[in-house]
Amino acid sequence: MIAVIADKRHQQAGELVTAALIRSVGSGLVATAAVGNEPIILTIGDIQLGSRPRSKRVHFGALPPELWRLLGACEARPLEGRGFPAPPAEANNASESHFAVRYGLPALLLGGREWRRPFARYDFADEWNNLGYGAIVDAASPWGLGEPALVAEQFELAAITDERGQRLSSYAALLQVGDEALLWFNRPVGPIDSFEWRLVENFLSSFGSPNLPIVPVISEIPAGYDMLVCARLDCDEDIESARALWASYDAMHVPLSLSIHTALLDGGAVPALLLEASERPGAVLAHSATHPPNWGGNRRQAEVEASRSADVLERATGRRPTYAVSPFHQTPGYAIEGLVAAGFDGCIGGSISGDPSFTMARSGVPAGAPDGFVGVTGQCMLHGDCLLANDPILRYRQAFELALQSASPFLYLDHPFSVRYRYGWASEGQRIQAHRHLIEHISRRARRPLFVSAGQAMDFVLQRTATTVRAKGGGYKVEAASGLDLEVSVEYGGKRHRLAGSLDL
Ligand SMILES: [Zn+2]
Repeated sequence: MIAVIADKRHQQAGELVTAALIRSVGSGLVATAAVGNEPIILTIGDIQLGSRPRSKRVHFGALPPELWRLLGACEARPLEGRGFPAPPAEANNASESHFAVRYGLPALLLGGREWRRPFARYDFADEWNNLGYGAIVDAASPWGLGEPALVAEQFELAAITDERGQRLSSYAALLQVGDEALLWFNRPVGPIDSFEWRLVENFLSSFGSPNLPIVPVISEIPAGYDMLVCARLDCDEDIESARALWASYDAMHVPLSLSIHTALLDGGAVPALLLEASERPGAVLAHSATHPPNWGGNRRQAEVEASRSADVLERATGRRPTYAVSPFHQTPGYAIEGLVAAGFDGCIGGSISGDPSFTMARSGVPAGAPDGFVGVTGQCMLHGDCLLANDPILRYRQAFELALQSASPFLYLDHPFSVRYRYGWASEGQRIQAHRHLIEHISRRARRPLFVSAGQAMDFVLQRTATTVRAKGGGYKVEAASGLDLEVSVEYGGKRHRLAGSLDL
């Protein structure tokens, strides 16, 4: 079992972290208070455990005095607010904050790399971060920092650096003493909104085995593959104009999905491409009725938007969608309630400028959402105005690399041209070439990538979320949900196990 304990000031962080843990290890192993002698404990805020022995501990937020001593920490200067935000990105250029999290070689102990994560970064305006993570903010918030502190360098996994690369504070540390190990992140929610969450998973599922306790982690990558890839077009202003790109994906034997802003169907005629796509499994998703910011601003409006778009798509194609893509990827909590009320099973959303709780390192049930509704974050937008001059798809290769290193699915999106707007692409030919180069790169770089439609990706998230894990004897019993199209894989002790029916670990 993993017990999560948050102090009174960090109840919200506690709920967010609990939901994130459940997305990785399932609900059966996570308790929200210490009930006995849990071998793994995750603390948030000023929690002191005293002399009670724990085999593994993860701590998020400012260091309590006992950990301050253990890590040989000393005070660091407060961080200036101007280092936190990133300016809006200019066309064909990314922007980033002065402050960044920089990992050193010790991150390799947990399967990491010498990663660098700016506190904020954008590839388009001040809206999208194609590398996928959320923002570390300058506020007393779960998404802010704990307190600046410099730990003894031999324990440091990551430092906070300024624009010159100077070390200002520690951000993450790893300590092993005898049969106990500690992993610390200097933020109340830790890295739940970033690829760095992989370090927590590896700490839980393999670090120190067999001397230290480990738990199974349910992988986001289906058994037999090393990557899951999903390409999508959000049809905001046109559908049929996607025909050329659709045909180029067909030629590569890669599925392409369409999410439909259903006001486009108001004229009555159903585009042939939509009918064709609706014959492919999982290739059509809803994308609201009027494409409003934040699903219309309240729960009721979100429900109306979701229901109406499902009705229109069902009339047009004969199939009722059960998955949606959030307009602008904005997915506040009330929108999830509206989607659930309208009969949806999940949605894709999340961006660095949207509701931070929907920018999730792992897909699954968002904090506060009912069981059975799943969310997927994928904010990689392949647009002409995000290409770089010298190496056009460099950022996309980097985004893919982070997904590969953190065992995360790689989702990306584009938009069909409209009369008004071409999303920075010079021509359809340039666009098709960029998409093709990215797919060729993925096919070379991954050993066995699986390309799926957006609906198939969501189906797999639902299946994966229905996997049950419980403690049994000295180990675990893992059971798959029935009726699986793809098999789930489980990481345990540094190995991936195929889950066919049930598995004893
Ligand atoms: Zn849209």
